[in-house]
Amino acid sequence: MTDTEFMQIALALAGEAAANGEVPVGAIVVKDGDIIGRGSNAPISQHDPSAHAEIQAMRNAAKTLGNYRLVGCTLYVTLEPCAMCAGAIQHARIARLVYGASDPKTGACGSVVNLMAEEKLNHHTEVDGGILAAECGAMLSEFFAGRRKMKQ
Ligand SMILES: [Zn+2]
Repeated sequence: MTDTEFMQIALALAGEAAANGEVPVGAIVVKDGDIIGRGSNAPISQHDPSAHAEIQAMRNAAKTLGNYRLVGCTLYVTLEPCAMCAGAIQHARIARLVYGASDPKTGACGSVVNLMAEEKLNHHTEVDGGILAAECGAMLSEFFAGRRKMKQ
């Protein structure tokens, strides 16, 4: 499968988050072409500030592998990871990160800061951003537009 096809699956998981009233972000972890972890953003429903899609997908993948290190894995996520998730991605030894839309407010892979390019951190994850960026961004803006409408 291509990066675009994997990102479509992450987008479907973002849709599940939106259906639960959560900010629509979805993520998957892929190893050797197989999806070994899936996650939808769920901090509100799980009463867990760390329940971002990336963390959920990595927890799921680590359980699948029986290993806290996700060596050789690629993480696909619809939105540029925040500082917490960027840190967790490095702790997990994720080999490659592929994200969709950039996040000018909390993005830690180049938008606000770039933890992935910090030479002093010893693990370096390859990063590719902008995959299906328009679709990933549209899902977020539609969600927030809908929420603003509901408040009126
Ligand atoms: Zn995050």
